[in-house]
Amino acid sequence: MSGSSATLNKIVGDRGVLDTKSIANRATSFWNPAPMQAKALVRPATSEDVSGILRHCNSSGQSVITQGGLTNCVSAVEPGLDDIVLSTEKMTGVIEIDKVGGTAIVEAGTVLQTVQETVAKEGMYFPLDLGARGSCTIGGNIATNAGGINVLRYGMMRNLVLGLEAVMADGTVMTSMNRMLKNNAGYDMKQLFIGSEGTLGVVTRAVLRLFPRPASRQDALVAMTGIEDVIRFLGKLQHELAGNLSAFEIMWGAYYRAVTGENGHRPPLPRDYPFYVVFQAEGSDPDADDARFERVLGDALEEGLIADAVLPKSAAETRAIWEIRENFEPALVKPPFYLYDVSLPIRDMAAYVASVEENVRKRWSDGRCVALGHMADGNLHFFVAPMEDGDFHMASDECVYGPLQQYGGSVSAEHGIGLEKICWLPHSKSTAEIQLMRTLKKSLDPNNILNPGRVLGP
Ligand SMILES: Cc1cc2nc3c(=O)[nH]c(=O)nc-3n(C[C@H](O)[C@H](O)[C@H](O)COP(=O)(O)OP(=O)(O)OC[C@H]3O[C@@H](n4cnc5c(N)ncnc54)[C@H](O)[C@@H]3O)c2cc1C
Repeated sequence: MSGSSATLNKIVGDRGVLDTKSIANRATSFWNPAPMQAKALVRPATSEDVSGILRHCNSSGQSVITQGGLTNCVSAVEPGLDDIVLSTEKMTGVIEIDKVGGTAIVEAGTVLQTVQETVAKEGMYFPLDLGARGSCTIGGNIATNAGGINVLRYGMMRNLVLGLEAVMADGTVMTSMNRMLKNNAGYDMKQLFIGSEGTLGVVTRAVLRLFPRPASRQDALVAMTGIEDVIRFLGKLQHELAGNLSAFEIMWGAYYRAVTGENGHRPPLPRDYPFYVVFQAEGSDPDADDARFERVLGDALEEGLIADAVLPKSAAETRAIWEIRENFEPALVKPPFYLYDVSLPIRDMAAYVASVEENVRKRWSDGRCVALGHMADGNLHFFVAPMEDGDFHMASDECVYGPLQQYGGSVSAEHGIGLEKICWLPHSKSTAEIQLMRTLKKSLDPNNILNPGRVLGP
């Protein structure tokens, strides 16, 4: 055993460290089933353990890749054979729920769905929600400033974290477990770590913001014939549902057709419409909320804004319409697709998607390009499949990012930069912003041990 592993064993105990051979039993990530490769994998149980690990790695210049649930979409969590992995899998639990203050204190390795379910038992609601809820962790959600389907009403992770604790590269434990909505005592240190993709520190605990659990929920899937109608329908729901609209997800027809049918989900609506929207409202008065929801939907049908609609009648039917939006892997992950996550003003979406589709068509005559997304947040996802053998990531990036700049869009709405988008960062950040990011990285992690290469490159 190397000196390094012996020290790590001392910090976390024998069972806290896995060697290269045992690590190979794990998949590299959600997207990459190949065996994971790394020098060692350490599983700290406390902030003090994390502090000891980082202090040791910092003094020897050892690179550390922090891993939560491995659902990252921008190749940030895949280690190399020279890296040590720091997994938060033993740092789990909802430590405290304060129903009066509307807060929960949670360990960083706790799975998002566990937090949602635990606080629900206390009549409370943690609104962050995304397709990877069963695997992704609160630490990963914080490090990526995760968004998901309820951003339009509750904001991204940045809006849902009141305080946190993070361990810095030199092992310093920075505790800032604020529980108040208002706290202007100096710089807001938590914001440094939210969305920093593990490059500035390892998050160990957080104070999350909770809301009262909604007493009513309404969902629907609708089909539409034009993007202008989709935009008007969004406005109508925002104005007429008394602030209850919490999710509004658009699917272009090509996406709906790709994930439904013979090998996919059962299509609740015919498959030949150009647009589909699945949306959700949450409120506090079940009878009044149901009635209002049905009235607004009926009006939209009468006005010709929506062409067809399905209102689920059971929890299973509700799940089924959301599966179409969230469970795309069986249909889309093979053959290799490149996944994108851009944001731009809603009014420019139709023209932008048309440009991307045209770029893909021009580059690969058989290529596929399907779009969907969190439309109300200005966030679109694309799956681009060249349908040709070879690595075409850069060519595909050019098709998607090329037309984005003219709309003032961002190359990452919610997934982050990781290793995948480093060369595209200047599309969305000015030279001065990137320089300031480098200054921060250098002063907080001078030996570049934390997720080296991610976000800013070498
Ligand atoms: C099916 C599917 C649907 C998804 N939908 C969405 C969506 O709607 N919205 C969205 O925003 N994302 C989405 N994602 C992406 C992903 O789930 C999020 O980025 C999530 O927040 C990552 O959490 P994780 O625990 O899996 O983190 P990981 O993938 O393990 O890590 C992500 C990043 O965070 C860092 N990190 C992890 N834990 C810590 C920690 N404790 N301290 C410091 N750094 C840390 C890692 O080093 C890495 O850079 C989706 C992914 C999948 C597979």
